Amino acid sequence: MAGNNPGRGSYPLDDHVKSVARDLQLRFAQMSNRDQKFDLQVIPDLLSQPVVPEPPAQEDKEAQNFEKYLIAMSHIPLNYENPGLLDEALQQIPLDRLSQEAEEEVELFQAKAASLGKTRPEWSHQECMVRALLRWFRRSFFTFVNNPPCSECLSPTNKIRNVAPTPEERAHSATWVELYQCVACGAFERFPRYTEAWQLLRVKRGRAGDFANVFTMLCRALDIRARWVWCQEDYLWTEIYSEHQQRWVHVDSCEEAWDMPHMYYKNWGKKMSYVIAFSREGAVDVTRRYVGSPDALLPRKRCSEGVLKFIMEEITNLHRPKYAPDGETRLRLYREDVAEDVQLRSLWAATLEQSRRLKAAVAAAARGGRSSPDKNGANMMGSPATGDIKRPIPEDAPVPDVPSLWPTYGP
Ligand SMILES: [Zn+2]
Repeated sequence: MAGNNPGRGSYPLDDHVKSVARDLQLRFAQMSNRDQKFDLQVIPDLLSQPVVPEPPAQEDKEAQNFEKYLIAMSHIPLNYENPGLLDEALQQIPLDRLSQEAEEEVELFQAKAASLGKTRPEWSHQECMVRALLRWFRRSFFTFVNNPPCSECLSPTNKIRNVAPTPEERAHSATWVELYQCVACGAFERFPRYTEAWQLLRVKRGRAGDFANVFTMLCRALDIRARWVWCQEDYLWTEIYSEHQQRWVHVDSCEEAWDMPHMYYKNWGKKMSYVIAFSREGAVDVTRRYVGSPDALLPRKRCSEGVLKFIMEEITNLHRPKYAPDGETRLRLYREDVAEDVQLRSLWAATLEQSRRLKAAVAAAARGGRSSPDKNGANMMGSPATGDIKRPIPEDAPVPDVPSLWPTYGP
């Protein structure tokens, strides 16, 4: 009950919004019923179920610290919302070139759709523009730096230690400076660690977090709704909202990756606990979009699921009214919130189901390829049980296709 939190203002919904909310909640309940066919016993936590928000308890210092930490981070993407600075950022983008590239790519998507007999291309001009921005940003604009090369002779350097920033470096948002020494000429090289996207835009180099910081800002400069995504396990990336597909799309500017939310666990074996998306519209726990397997989910111990939900709403209530002052925008954003929540819950339910089936198939194979005790008489690989080839393969035997469980929204 979001509205029952004493002392912490709930989002002011007018009656019209509330009636739409009731409709969406009905849809929500229908999704829950669909989920019931899954074995709820295997759910490792509450990630696929609706959670009731609850404020951190008075004595729970750990949860309160997490709340303060997340609220502090939620201000970072607000730094992008400065029209003068966004204009300055826009000056750096080769708009004509990117627009031309986007135009050409849209035509390719349209041709592809036509050849498949579809009426809508997969991506529209807006997303193709971000894709062009992504290519330009990674290949031509921003440089990944681990050890900065020597500025005297361009030779490699070795790290000496971290040092304090000079007043000038501090004025440009450096919180500390990494000091390196050239292996050839012995000169010292300073690598100030700037936090402000504006300064990073000028130096045009950095690490994964810097990529995410600047790229998210450049998306905002193009007036594209963008989120700055923080992962507790030391990584950052971007999400942009696709009006065409009516969903948030993963963009990793450091890896030049587009819409590959499972790359971290699949390609890197990365395990994650909390993945939070921040924007001027608030904060959302998007962990379920990125953890594609229950084995890749680390324990979430910093607070209860209810408290995390509360903190997400608290941050949203804190920032959103400023950027969505009118009822119509609030309504649209609220509908998106509910749609995304349904999407994330059904995605996680499908992830768990997929994992359960995979484990059952492995267990069946370990029993020597003989029939599992499954009364339906087929093993999980979909082949008929030994000795009874007439028995039909059960309807639910194939591993469910995750996207098919996503609710479809919009036209
Ligand atoms: Zn040197």
